[in-house]
Amino acid sequence: MMRIEINNSFLEITQGDITEQEVEAIVNAANERLIPGGGVDGAIHRKGGPAILEELREKYTHCPTGEAVVTGAGNLKAKYVIHAVGPIYKDGKRGEAELLSRAYRSALERAVELGVKSIAFPALSTGAYGYPIKEASEIALKTILDFLKEKGKPELVRMVLFLEEHYNTFVKVLEELKSNL
Ligand code: ADP
Repeated sequence: MMRIEINNSFLEITQGDITEQEVEAIVNAANERLIPGGGVDGAIHRKGGPAILEELREKYTHCPTGEAVVTGAGNLKAKYVIHAVGPIYKDGKRGEAELLSRAYRSALERAVELGVKSIAFPALSTGAYGYPIKEASEIALKTILDFLKEKGKPELVRMVLFLEEHYNTFVKVLEELKSNL
């Protein structure tokens, strides 16, 4: 686990399963239609139970790329699931970087609106959506660091990497970014 303090908040990087996190809000890597798929989305709906999808259907029709919507967390330990939609990676020339940054930022904004003190993210867009992990980690970490510098909340932001290779990349990139803080 790696942890750094910034503006009285903490940014942590850990390897594991997002559905097991004891935080107030977990972020889902959702799609625009808010239809449960595979990957982290499948795991969240499976463990959280049908209440999450029922609430999505009641409240929302879709969620544009770069934005995020909120539901309860059903049977999960968290209170809320923040469904954020990252971009599908094509060639890096279609605004993917900006959209990925916006997806992280939107989720953080929802967390602050909800008043939650702790939030955990998976690596948005780095599975089925094909975003290269090095670039995705730079965008994720820079966006979170900027947000914490600016707002000083939430108190804890945890990146939860499912794959060891992804975890190692995030740690390396944060080591680099840390020296410029
Ligand atoms: P996307 O469609 O945004 O790429 P995916 O769910 O396919 O979303 O993948 C996003 C990332 O989530 C991938 O890096 C994948 O390894 C990771 N992942 C899959 N299952 C879990 C889990 N249970 N907890 C945390 N991360 C997960």
